[in-house]
Amino acid sequence: MKNILVTGGAGYIGSHIVRDLGENSYNPIILDNLSEGHREACAGKEFVLASINDTEALDAVFSEKNIDAVMHFSAFAYVGESVTNPEKYYLNNLSATVNLLSVMRKYDVQKFIFSSSCATYGNPVYIPMDEQHPQNPINPYGRTKFMVEKIIDDYRAAYGLRYIALRYFNAAGAHPDGSIGESHRIETHLIPLVLKAISGEKDRISILGSDYPTPDGTCIRDYIAVTDLAAAHRAALELLLSGGESACVNLGTEHGYSVKEVISACEEVTGKKAPVITAPRRAGDPPELVAKTSLAKKLLGFTAKKTDIRDIISNAWQWEQTRRY
Ligand code: UDP
Repeated sequence: MKNILVTGGAGYIGSHIVRDLGENSYNPIILDNLSEGHREACAGKEFVLASINDTEALDAVFSEKNIDAVMHFSAFAYVGESVTNPEKYYLNNLSATVNLLSVMRKYDVQKFIFSSSCATYGNPVYIPMDEQHPQNPINPYGRTKFMVEKIIDDYRAAYGLRYIALRYFNAAGAHPDGSIGESHRIETHLIPLVLKAISGEKDRISILGSDYPTPDGTCIRDYIAVTDLAAAHRAALELLLSGGESACVNLGTEHGYSVKEVISACEEVTGKKAPVITAPRRAGDPPELVAKTSLAKKLLGFTAKKTDIRDIISNAWQWEQTRRY
């Protein structure tokens, strides 16, 4: 069984990848400092409580376990916070990532899956966005992801690292068995916020801008099921393990939904009305982000299975009603 170190494996996306790896004959070893993640999200799995800037802890893991590849998810991901406190993002997402890469090099671990983002593109120049789209990130969060992409490419050229950087569009949903899902310290994402407004946990959902140049005036995003993301990560891992070359690959569905369409779909799935207000635009929100995903298909043999947003929302709703963390 291959040992896969999953940093941030107790977080939203990481925990779904850990589950998927475990179900597919890999041995995931989670390293997480639980600053954002939840221990319950990876119950029953090998777990190391540590940060990626803790060289001693990393040394212990790499020297005791024969690590075949690293999947790296431990990063802060609040765009707004990255603007008000960029140092937090540069210290963790950037500098601590270099520490992780340095320890990997020491132990000659040369396979790396990086959790990147469509935030590396910045404002779209054309839609759908392929991997050649210009990368001009517009906030510190996006810049950390962009810079790590450049760093790992330098490691590739100089030290022989092989990596797949996966640029996610909007990760959404939960595991269909209801045991793991999204639970953030500060919730800023549309689908959980709409569902919380429907369940009464929040007073209402604010549509952040209704004067965008889109058919209904609200922003369009490409929502990909977190379980589809997990399958794509496994395909990327298999590619590296079988000798595949480094690449940056979009993960999305090629299908965009507006904020109003997402709210209607949440109402349809739950059978309840969402209390909605319109509010001003949120700084830094491009009108439309939709992925071109032909490279994922070609390189990873991956296409998203859940392309109907209602399926994604239905898993999120089940999670929202029964979640334990
Ligand atoms: N959005 C909204 N109300 C909210 C949260 C988000 O209208 O309370 C909008 C947001 O402006 C964006 C879309 O929903 O157009 C998706 O936002 P989210 O934060 O889920 O993901 P992002 O695209 O920012 O990564």
